[in-house]
Order: sequence, then structure tokens, then C-alpha cells
Amino acid sequence: MALIVQKYGGTSVANLERFRNVAKRVVKTKDQGNNVVVVVSAMAGETDRLLTLAKEATGEPDERELDVLLATGEQVSSALLAIVLNSMGHPVKSFLGHQIKIGTDSTHGKARITSVDADKIFSELREGRIVVVAGFQGEDEQGNITTLGRGGSDTTAVAIAAALKADLCEIYTDVDGVFTTNPNICAQARKIDRISYDEMLEMASLGAKVLQTRSVEFAKKYGVTVHVRSSFYEGEGTIVCEEEVDMEQVLVSGVTYDMNQARIEIARVPDRPGIAAQFFTAINEANILVDMIIQTTSLEEGSANMAFTISKADFPKALKLARSLAKELGAKEVIAEDDVAKVSMVGVGMRSHSGVASKMFGALAQEGINIKMISTSEIKISCIIDTKYTELAVRSLHEAFDLGKGNG
Ligand code: ADP
Ligand code: ASP
Ligand code: MG
Repeated sequence: MALIVQKYGGTSVANLERFRNVAKRVVKTKDQGNNVVVVVSAMAGETDRLLTLAKEATGEPDERELDVLLATGEQVSSALLAIVLNSMGHPVKSFLGHQIKIGTDSTHGKARITSVDADKIFSELREGRIVVVAGFQGEDEQGNITTLGRGGSDTTAVAIAAALKADLCEIYTDVDGVFTTNPNICAQARKIDRISYDEMLEMASLGAKVLQTRSVEFAKKYGVTVHVRSSFYEGEGTIVCEEEVDMEQVLVSGVTYDMNQARIEIARVPDRPGIAAQFFTAINEANILVDMIIQTTSLEEGSANMAFTISKADFPKALKLARSLAKELGAKEVIAEDDVAKVSMVGVGMRSHSGVASKMFGALAQEGINIKMISTSEIKISCIIDTKYTELAVRSLHEAFDLGKGNG
């Protein structure tokens, strides 16, 4: 008997018919002799609807209360699925995050899971029940409801799979698996059969929202095998697992993009020790997560330009802070743009091959796309470009690296 954690995303539970479809899959897994824990997301569009409501109420909703509001989406789904399963004659209980002690830190809106009460779930399974858990939510040490950030139900599922030492964690979604790029914007995108944790981690953090980045971090840390697959079709999806020898053969695994980017440049700031430290300490203290940083210096002028990228959500706060810091530090100008995107190539094969960067830059140049910033790591290369060229860039790169054919 295996223990399987299944997670169903928003589109998989978009209406009652789909809840019934999910229930059938859950029952099938149970009938095959497995213990099943099911994690559900809010019904499609519900989290956005709740967010809009709160934003309409006030521009800056209180973070604690916003989490209380957003967590209701998953409460509805978990109860509905349990109602459907129960009506089909199956013993089942639904639980909210706090009821199975999904402990988190207190960072409302993007809390990190710190603990899960496995005993509670095990005792329900021992009674022969299917356990349904509301994804995306937890409870901090003071008993406040927290949420885990967009896409957080993936992380709930993997964290539960890790805590229970489950045999498998299945992530059911609206695509057949992890593709070489988002199949909804590139018809040539190809499903990847197996992908390493490290590559998936890069792809997720660089914009492939098919898995929340933290869920992959958890999977890697605890060795949870994750199977990403469709809730609408049968057939194998993508296995996310430890790196395997033949994975090395692939130069590039995928192209990702992230339109949720903004760029700020502090121009002609005095070039002396401590300036960058002072600037980025202040940005960090304001809880703004900085992604790329590029500094260039001009010897004649004795000045430097510091450019960095952040998420669009932090843009207003970061710009305000950058302007006041620029004044304090004696910089001449602040240049800001929030219509930029990041396109990236990811692949473990890059470790041992050169030439990916030049080929990438060439493909973008051929389309007349200007590169505003570049950053590289062992297994990825990212470029900041104008948002309006994103889809063109993704398709051109996908084509240039022959990813549709699987011989990147
Ligand atoms: P769910 O509601 O099931 O959690 P998400 O919308 O969060 O689903 O994630 C699935 C979506 O991720 C797909 O519909 C697709 O548009 C997007 N996506 C982006 N990049 C990729 C990729 N490389 N492979 C598969 N899907 C991707
Ligand atoms: N409902 C949340 C969201 O829309 C969490 C999730 O779906 O994973 O982001
Ligand atoms: Mg998701």
C-alpha cells in the first residue's frame, strides 16, 4: 500500500463537474489500495476575485486580514470536495491549514511552512478516511492565519508529502506536465518526461508558474518525487526528481519568462566604498527582494551607475525609496521602468558547454530585441527586455535552440 499526496489546482476544481472528476480520480487511487491525501486550491479565479474585493475596499489592505480573506477560497474547495466524496459513499474529512497544524512564519502573503502535524493526518488515514486539505494556508505561532504566496497549494502538497514521507506527490493541473516553455504561448512547446530538481527550481523561479518555486525547494530538500500531470487527460506527465546521468545530455531544457519585473537605475552616484552597501541595506530593510544588480563605473567621472530589478508589486515602494536614497547619496538621476520582462534559458547541460549565451543574444538580435540587462548562473542565462517583445523572444529562443525537437 502506497501513500500518495495529490494536489488539484484551480482550473481542476473550477466547477461542480470538475469536483466530481477530481473525486473520481481520488477514489480510483484509493481503490487501487493506496492511502490518499488530497490538497486543493481555490476554484479558478476565486483568489483573484477576493484580492480585487480587498483592493477595492482600500488600496492597501491590512496584511493579516487579507490572509484571512484569501484563505477562504481553499476552505470552500476542500469542503466541497469532501462533500462530493462523501456523497459517493467514501469516508473523508476536510481540514484547514491550522487544523493539521501547518505552522508557518508570520510573513503574511508569502509565509514559509515550518512544520506539519503528520500524526493527525496519519490517524485519519488509519481510520480508512481520505484526507482533504485546504492548500495555500497555515498558521503562525500566534495563531494568525497566513497564506503561502500565489501558487502556494503546490507547496502545501509537497510539504505534506515530505512530512508523511509519502511515496509520491502528484500535482494535477491544466497542462500535461512541465513543457520546454509555456505551451499556452508556444505551440511548439514539448512535454519534458523527467527534469531535475535544480532545473525545475530555476524554471519555476524564472517564471514557469506550473510549480511554485518553494514547492520545488521542499521537494529537493526532502527528496520528494513530484509528478506534474493533467487532471483532464490520462497519461504520464513530468517527473521532477534527482539529476540523472542522461539529463546532462540536454544542453537547454527550457525557456521561461517573467513579466512581473521592474527595473530601477540610480545614475551617476559617487564611486566610493560603502555606497552600494548603504543603498541595498536600505532596500533590504524595506523587505524588497532584489533580483539582478548591475553596476558600471565611469573612471573619468568618478561615478557609478547602479541598476537593479525587482518585482512589479514592489515597484512603487522601491522607487520612492530609491529616489530618497539617490538624493542622500548625491546621485544625479533615477531612471525607472516597469514595462520590462525577463526571458531565460535553463539547462544543466550549460555547466559543461559554452556558446549558449552568444546563441541566445544572437537569436534576440535577429528579432531586433534590445537586451537591457543580462545575468548568468551555472545553469541559466537571463535577459531583461521590453515586455512587449516577451512572446516573440520566447518563440524565437525556443526555435533557435530546437527545443520542439528535444535535442536542445
Ligand atoms: P494550477 O491552477 O493547476 O496550479 P497554474 O496556472 O498555477 O495551474 O499552472 C499551470 C500553468 O502554468 C499552465 O496553464 C501554463 O500556462 C503555465 N506554464 C508556464 N510555464 C510552463 C511550462 N514550462 N510548462 C507547463 N506549464 C507552464
Ligand atoms: N489559490 C492560490 C492562488 O491562486 C493558491 C494556489 O492556487 O496554489 O495563487
Ligand atoms: Mg498553480
